[in-house]
Amino acid sequence: MGKIIQIRKIGDPLLNQKSRTVENIGKEEREIIEDLIETLNYSGGYGIAAPQIGISQRIIVIQVKQEKCHYKDCEEIPTTILINPHWSNIGEEQTVEYEGCLSVPEIRGKVKRYKTIQVTYQNEKGEKIQKIKSGFSARLIQHEIDHLEGITFLEKVESPHGFATRDMLEKYELRKKAKSEFIVNIHSLLKRVSFLCDSTRIKFEW
Ligand SMILES: [Zn+2]
Repeated sequence: MGKIIQIRKIGDPLLNQKSRTVENIGKEEREIIEDLIETLNYSGGYGIAAPQIGISQRIIVIQVKQEKCHYKDCEEIPTTILINPHWSNIGEEQTVEYEGCLSVPEIRGKVKRYKTIQVTYQNEKGEKIQKIKSGFSARLIQHEIDHLEGITFLEKVESPHGFATRDMLEKYELRKKAKSEFIVNIHSLLKRVSFLCDSTRIKFEW
């Protein structure tokens, strides 16, 4: 059973350091993994990197429970441990989305990331894994691997207007979403009305 560790916040020098490669997955590393999982479960985030709990080693854990995810292209991700992960982009397509981070309370920022990546890593048994990931999970993996390089998403926000608090993002993005859903609903209603008018007219002519 892992421990819940207090998450390091920006301003902590450890978050700006490059983490060490994991040479051996022994008792100590397994304890770090358990602590990462326990801390991630407790905090309600989608991913965590070892430096965020004060360990400068190249280990990340990701997990997404879809019903608890607030981002628009969320997908279910079982608890996955990535040791010494690397990624490379597949294709040039990039997307810009808001991101948050357990080490950056309340703030969200718009970050450009590659849409599809190939990720290679070792799992907790030391087996080498290679996967192609796209969309939300590709973004999450790029974000977490940045932590191993000492980078947080704040350094990646290109626009000076690309920041928002969580509250404001929910307020304005949800309003935008509600407005576009309203327009779609009105369109489908108009379509149904015009279909009914047409069929009524046909009935009369017959
Ligand atoms: Zn983060």
